[in-house]
Amino acid sequence: MQNRWLRGVITIVLVVLFVSTLMDLLNTPSTTVKPAPYSTMVTAMSGHKITAAKVDPATHEVTWTAQGKQYQTVYALGYTNDLAMALDSHGAQVSVSKPASSGIWIAILGDLLPLAIVAGFLFFFFRQSQGGSRMMSFGRSQARLQPETQGTVTFDDVAGVEEEKQELEEIVDFLKNPKRYLEMGARIPKGVLLFGPPGTGKTLLARAVAGEAGVPFFTESGSGFVEMFVGVGASRVRDLFEQAKKNAPCIVFIDELDAVGRMRGAGYGGGNDEREQTLNQLLVEMDGFGINEGIIMMAATNRPDVLDPALLRPGRFDRQIVVHRPDQTGRKKILEVHTRSKPMADDVALEVIAKRTPGFTGADLANLANEAALLAARERQKKISMHNFEEAAERVMAGPQKKSRVITEFEKRVVAFHEGGHTLVGMLVTHGDPIHKVTIIPRGMAMGYTMPVPEEDRYLITKEQILDKVAMSLGGRAAESIVFGEISTGASDDLEKSTSMVRQMITEYGMSDELGPMTYGNRQDQVFLGRDLMRARNYSEEVASKIDQAIRHIVMVQYERAKNLLLQHRVTLNQIALALMDKETLSAEELRMILQSTT
Ligand code: ADP
Ligand code: MG
Ligand code: ZN
Repeated sequence: MQNRWLRGVITIVLVVLFVSTLMDLLNTPSTTVKPAPYSTMVTAMSGHKITAAKVDPATHEVTWTAQGKQYQTVYALGYTNDLAMALDSHGAQVSVSKPASSGIWIAILGDLLPLAIVAGFLFFFFRQSQGGSRMMSFGRSQARLQPETQGTVTFDDVAGVEEEKQELEEIVDFLKNPKRYLEMGARIPKGVLLFGPPGTGKTLLARAVAGEAGVPFFTESGSGFVEMFVGVGASRVRDLFEQAKKNAPCIVFIDELDAVGRMRGAGYGGGNDEREQTLNQLLVEMDGFGINEGIIMMAATNRPDVLDPALLRPGRFDRQIVVHRPDQTGRKKILEVHTRSKPMADDVALEVIAKRTPGFTGADLANLANEAALLAARERQKKISMHNFEEAAERVMAGPQKKSRVITEFEKRVVAFHEGGHTLVGMLVTHGDPIHKVTIIPRGMAMGYTMPVPEEDRYLITKEQILDKVAMSLGGRAAESIVFGEISTGASDDLEKSTSMVRQMITEYGMSDELGPMTYGNRQDQVFLGRDLMRARNYSEEVASKIDQAIRHIVMVQYERAKNLLLQHRVTLNQIALALMDKETLSAEELRMILQSTT
């Protein structure tokens, strides 16, 4: 590598020298020129014998012609003008040449040399600081060849994604026995694209396919292609496939495909040429290897909506697998994977933790298990207890507990009623999720925290359920206004949440009576602005203001509803708030007792 660079520099220097010599040669007149002393020239000039003269300021030489013969004379530096004028006034045809080209070359070379030296130093400096890999090897793929022996991931390490694993089984089998498929003339998909939210285990799944099949795994992330130098991405893609072809059967995995695979010609301020070139190269390479050559392309993205359609055409990423967030049983299995090698106390019930963590991805659960282990270690326990898991779950959900933060008595009262309001409305509405616990200990950004737990993961949600949720999230503010007659800033998050729930209800689920079962606006376009900014809102100003009115109306109705519920159960609200101020945290059981004793 280093030699190659040096050779490059030497070549450039040689070329420059060669060209400058050539220019010199061209400049030299072919007729013989006799050198003549200055005095000879002056004599000739005085006698009006010089017919023509060519003055060259760069070399301060004058080439003059007298009686058909050419002479060359050196004159003193800085006398070019005087000499030219004198020659002219004595009847010579004078021309002054531009600063000679050889001079320019020398000047350029003189300028370039220090630059080249500095650049050379920088190169070596970077090379050193980058552990000898990056700068010098740009253009060469950073894709890593993962030896099968160390750290192999198998399907056992990926839990809760059974359907996805089943779909990948076929690929694994093909990689293991390509012959069998070839004999059958079967066509195996060239490319498999994994979609899904971040942290659902897409990268893990791809590794597991390689691990199961026992084939090499080449990986490069989409952003890795376009990171450093212009023009590098495309050559990296070429290199990656070159390596892959040498090692077939194997898997080439491109993580975060969206970083290179975004739709061409989209985005603000014109396209990104570098990225588009990389994408084009990727398409070329994908088309370039035959169907059963034993290379399986895999890629992962959480933004399938922004991908260039060309990527998804047959013969490219023609197999698409959606990786879902795990459901309750899936979460339990993932927790089992991540607690396999940890010492667990007997009281730990993974299904309870799984139940309490809807929406968690595999990465969240891995994080949870790790946090629990850290807490247990900090408290010098022998084993990880359920208590550790509970605290860890709250941490992962809402940021680390801020025990050090001092709350004034008044603040505590406000928060107690605010959270009490959420909780009570949540318990009173028909479709409310059971409240797991409520606390007034500050967590992350939120002052307090009411934690509802959906009984099971829901894939469908009715209008009534949404309205109940809206009422619950407005319950905090309703309680404040009832009890204190004034409202604090603590509800801004609730308001935002409830407003956006109602907006979604109207514009996406078509649940408004006035606006009817229609969607308004294109959700994908709202998320990704690159496609076409103007299409995001596909309705008129008039409809927009109708939507705003409808949102306002629904929010106000739910706010009044929450307020009325709280007014009717004012005693219960007081009891909950008092208990909260006393204990700071109330469990579902304690809440139920309060509700029963006061109604
Ligand atoms: P993605 O690529 O979808 O963003 P990753 O595969 O990088 O997610 O997952 C990050 C980490 O989360 C993994 O290394 C693993 O520890 C954990 N994880 C994610 N999904 C699962 C799963 N289904 N089973 C077990 N662990 C998982
Ligand atoms: Mg990933
Ligand atoms: Zn609130």
